Amino acid sequence: MAEFDTQLVHGTPQHDNDTGAVNVPIYASSTYIFPTVDSQVKWDYARSGNPTRNYLEDQIATLEGGVKGFAFSSGLAAIHATLAIFSPGDHIVIGNTVYGGTFRLITQFFKRWQLEFTAVDTQDTKAVEAAIQPNTKAIYFETFTNPLLKVTSVKAIAAIAKAHNLLTIVDNTFLTPYLQRPLTLGADIVVHSATKYLGGHSDVVAGLVVAKTQALADRIYFNQNGIGSILSPENAAQIRRGIQTLAVRLDRHLSNAAKIVAFLQERDEVSKIYYPGVPGSKDYDIAKAETNGFGGIISFELKAGLDAKKFVESLSLIQLAVSLGAVESLIELPYKMTHAELSDAQQLAVGITHQLVRLSVGIEDPRDLIGDLKQGLDQL
Ligand code: PLP
Repeated sequence: MAEFDTQLVHGTPQHDNDTGAVNVPIYASSTYIFPTVDSQVKWDYARSGNPTRNYLEDQIATLEGGVKGFAFSSGLAAIHATLAIFSPGDHIVIGNTVYGGTFRLITQFFKRWQLEFTAVDTQDTKAVEAAIQPNTKAIYFETFTNPLLKVTSVKAIAAIAKAHNLLTIVDNTFLTPYLQRPLTLGADIVVHSATKYLGGHSDVVAGLVVAKTQALADRIYFNQNGIGSILSPENAAQIRRGIQTLAVRLDRHLSNAAKIVAFLQERDEVSKIYYPGVPGSKDYDIAKAETNGFGGIISFELKAGLDAKKFVESLSLIQLAVSLGAVESLIELPYKMTHAELSDAQQLAVGITHQLVRLSVGIEDPRDLIGDLKQGLDQL
């Protein structure tokens, strides 16, 4: 098999392409002809399967090292279809800082369907073990948490899960298979908001799931087809195109992030930096051992008394917006934007202060990014 970066560009071999087109065609057909009533056709109806979507699904399965991939209309739709493999009365252990939408889905939606949960700090393996109950079926977490970039060891959690016969489900949105392949570290299912790095251009909302075994793939396929929150062929083609440049984009995200961290470390206005690439922390050690890079998200705290709102609003190149993982740099205040749903007490419990800024580092020239941050800090 070709090297990983080559696989990103070329994907899986194309099958149905009669034209010789270099790119996978967009099959804009909701239904397909049955030659006879009794025909066993590969494609019958586009919710059940679409060649363009299927191409992306095969591509992500190969990249993550699983047997089958599934594409959804959003990351949350992907997570919904994944967690819907469980039944009323089942229990799952979840990371206590999973993405807010995931938290809402579990604590407000699935709770009504009697899926029980316990939220814990998944970096704390003792807390994870202690949360396991007789009806526990899975441990669900994000390797790098948002917005404080705490790093959980996939190997450590997967070992606990295996010992208790549980599934390990990892949201790999922040790292992508370029930086970490959770299935190769012991996980059973990987989910993605492909809206972020995989798409990479802030122009599509999409989700992906990859299953490690056929038995799990069958359960997820049942939900994908049965619930129906599929990705359109047009959006599937856009995500596939995004994946082709994943390696070069992430290399630049990583090198820009390292330069910005070095810049922020020199600034008096910054009291704390959250980035797993800074040596001397547990996060660094785990990330060093289990990932190929420290990601493109940096969070940092401005000193007490400095106006964080004024700072983010004063930037001219770096855009004030939620979301992350795209070519353009985005900045936000978690307490007021991405994590506004948490109460003040919940925010403080997970370390989200009013001084905390989250930066999704883009692929612009780092001198321009640093220049923009510098003028923003200078005027505080
Ligand atoms: N998982 C993570 C880590 C996210 O950051 C997000 C969105 O921000 C999601 C899942 C949900 O994805 P989507 O917005 O594509 O539904």
